[in-house]
Amino acid sequence: MPLQSRLFKNDPRLAKCLVDDSAHVLLGATGRFVGNIQAALEILDHAEIEMTELQAMKYGPSTAAAVLRYKQQRKIINYSYQTKADNIVGKMTIARLDRELVERDQQHPARFICGDCVKHSTESVKAETTGSVRTSLRARNVRAKTAEADSKPKANAPYVPPQLPANLGIVFHITKGAWQSKKGEHLAQIVKANSLLFSWGMRIVEPTMGTLIWPHVDVVDPRYTADVARVRRASDRVTPGFPNLVRVIVCPFIAHYPYYGATYGNNGGTGLDAPFILIDSNKRREDNCTMLHEMIHAAETRLLEEHHDPDPTNVFSTSDNRSVLNYYYAEILSRAFFAS
Ligand SMILES: [Zn+2]
Ligand SMILES: [Zn+2]
Repeated sequence: MPLQSRLFKNDPRLAKCLVDDSAHVLLGATGRFVGNIQAALEILDHAEIEMTELQAMKYGPSTAAAVLRYKQQRKIINYSYQTKADNIVGKMTIARLDRELVERDQQHPARFICGDCVKHSTESVKAETTGSVRTSLRARNVRAKTAEADSKPKANAPYVPPQLPANLGIVFHITKGAWQSKKGEHLAQIVKANSLLFSWGMRIVEPTMGTLIWPHVDVVDPRYTADVARVRRASDRVTPGFPNLVRVIVCPFIAHYPYYGATYGNNGGTGLDAPFILIDSNKRREDNCTMLHEMIHAAETRLLEEHHDPDPTNVFSTSDNRSVLNYYYAEILSRAFFAS
């Protein structure tokens, strides 16, 4: 049976490794197929492989050590010529890695809250549900609108919107895979967010200093924890910690994926605490509002796709021409876990 996993199935070098003893992979090898082995070890074993080896896709000492550990833990030993595990990827090892990758996808689907879906949202119109979340959010919406109305201009006084002073802290990462094709194109989303936040007295801040790139070239399928957790972990290796910032990671999604991004909440299946946001580098909604839209989801994870705003100009709708951040959503952002 040929290799089945998403990571391995289109790799001709690993296909050879599966059937030909002389095509085993060992210390000193370099290439995309080594990168795929490294990715598998990170996904399945949380292996900590040296950054230099990941960047070069080189089967160096730390990759070999990760292979040895993987084989020891599973007792992958070819008793016809050895009595203990070695650090080489041969037929047995590649088959085992492949099988575990397939099992992992089946057992760990990832669920995201919202991804700023490509098709215009019609579900939001029919979503006048009376669930408790919706009810409490609507009640707050009414209070918010009252607060806004109270500050409307009296006589000839100039209109000053109520202020919600806050810095919204983000870690903005672009993966190497995204950078190679799109460079910093998605930085426009920060500029757009700031232009809409400004009148409420808010702004985006990046305390971790600018955009960082790391050796993650993979295409991400937002439906699988293996992909999502791996790109999230890669971000954490470059900039560890910062639980009070929201991570925004620009990375290439699989082709024709019907969402511009994906926000994962506390139960996204990744075992990670704080919500974080992936943005597809391969396409960009023309209004540049995907990041701000997703930040609202990250700020209030009880807001789901069905709660999208029916007004197509509203940032919290899923139209292509959003330009309004109203008090309701501004207020939610102002008390987000990443607001200070
Ligand atoms: Zn949404
Ligand atoms: Zn939708």
